[in-house]
Amino acid sequence: MVDPYEKLLREAYSNITETSGDEGRFSVPEPKVYIEGKTTVLENFAEIASTLRREQDHLMKYLLGELGTAGKIDGNRAIFNGKFERAVIDSAVRNYTEDYVICSECGKPDTRLIKDGRVLTLRCDACGGHRPVKKRRARTEPVGSRIEEGSIMDVDIQSVSRRGDGVARIGKYTMYVAGAKPGQTVKVKVTRVAGSIVFTERL
Ligand SMILES: [Zn+2]
Repeated sequence: MVDPYEKLLREAYSNITETSGDEGRFSVPEPKVYIEGKTTVLENFAEIASTLRREQDHLMKYLLGELGTAGKIDGNRAIFNGKFERAVIDSAVRNYTEDYVICSECGKPDTRLIKDGRVLTLRCDACGGHRPVKKRRARTEPVGSRIEEGSIMDVDIQSVSRRGDGVARIGKYTMYVAGAKPGQTVKVKVTRVAGSIVFTERL
């Protein structure tokens, strides 16, 4: 005979597993990022691609473009040349999700990418909506252009560093702006360039 308390427990657990099914809010796994030598490893790359239901190659190509670097898929991981903060990878994944996964009509991720002639279209299985995949807005500076110390520029802040500084990605560069917040466009003077890291003074 089954202990009534145990029976109650079992029922409670089976209810929990039932309700945490399809109704759960769509969430992209947090990128697990670490630096390995001169590269940055995105440990759960495959998991992110499969959650987004997109081809690994497609996601990878986008991330490389966003980061302005080279890299490769290595099993379940993605490896990028250069050192990138978790926040930078995170914002690249978010941009991809917004551009290539989320339906702008209903906000659901149940979408497919369809080539319509030369136009890439995002079609939603949930609401039937569709839209052309939007082109990323132009970068402040073209990828590959050099950033010189002393130059003055307007930059779009995309994310926040662990220390709380605003972060802007410009081509291969990661720029830090003290006190700036994501979404802001700020005027800065470049005070120091160390490899791909750019330090600034806000004007
Ligand atoms: Zn939709």
